[in-house]
Amino acid sequence: MDFLPLYRDIPKIDGHLHLNTQRPAMMKEAAEEGFSLLTINTEVPFFPNIDEQQQFALEQDHTHSKKIDFITTFSTEHWGETGWQDEAISQIETGLNRGAVGVKIWKNIGMELKDNEGNFVMADHPSFDPIYSFLEKNGIPLLAHLGEPKNCWLPIERMTVTSDVDYFKNHPEYHMHKHLEFPSYEQQLAARDRVLDNYKQLTFIGAHIASLEWSVDRAAEWLDRYPNCGIDLAERVCHLQHQASETPQKVREFITTYQDRIIYGSDQIDDGIHAENEIRSELQTKWRKEFSFFADPGEQTAWNVKEPFPGLHLKREVLEKIFYNNALNYYPKLNC
Ligand SMILES: [Zn+2]
Repeated sequence: MDFLPLYRDIPKIDGHLHLNTQRPAMMKEAAEEGFSLLTINTEVPFFPNIDEQQQFALEQDHTHSKKIDFITTFSTEHWGETGWQDEAISQIETGLNRGAVGVKIWKNIGMELKDNEGNFVMADHPSFDPIYSFLEKNGIPLLAHLGEPKNCWLPIERMTVTSDVDYFKNHPEYHMHKHLEFPSYEQQLAARDRVLDNYKQLTFIGAHIASLEWSVDRAAEWLDRYPNCGIDLAERVCHLQHQASETPQKVREFITTYQDRIIYGSDQIDDGIHAENEIRSELQTKWRKEFSFFADPGEQTAWNVKEPFPGLHLKREVLEKIFYNNALNYYPKLNC
């Protein structure tokens, strides 16, 4: 618990979570723990629609908390129809006018959306060019969750973290190891990287360690290749902990080297289903345990990481960047 005084002392942003309900549970917890929040509107089939997600952020009563910021997105429902991109851009503009600090795209691009011939529509499909151009020209940050953790393409017994084992056992339909007709892990990343080769001025944040969570070496190579890009850590801190159980010094060097380009995020979802106090305690535990991993020395454990790992014992100034300043640099419109 050495980290607590520091944790309380520095301002913090959770740069990636999902407020999918009207109730203020996460905002209340954030006020107590010294966090500001950024909710990510996402075109997920089982999420409320994009407009509703926005309203949850906009209609918060701020009596007990700061304002919650949001990142907007656009619908791909009419993808391929004439003029669908104009619709998408006007949906983006509506979000921006309401105060969105960026735009999100999701893994349905590359893993779900198909053209008339039944081919998967990848991130570098020319149909997205007007949208990428619009974002680049207007300096609007693009947060992209493309592809999945590499575990998704591995058999259950080779998966590194228990949370992935649980998830893919329960969702065989998303376990790509079983679906060879889908584009491969490397194809997903290559399509994403071709977008970045074409839009060099685009501010791009690779969600979930840019789907390179399994290797700090690969993530480092990617960050070197794309100097405008940052990453967020949403739901992938366990992959850094897993690597730290084997090569802690390497993980520490990775964080230190890229200390200006890493944004903390929990990926917590509140959809109103679980009790308010459950969500609050889950969020508090996650924030504190993950902060402790970055801040404390000494051996630690996590429920989803098979081996113990040492804390990274990072300097205060590095923690301030990961937990606060970097989010502000990548999303300059944040209110916090
Ligand atoms: Zn998310």
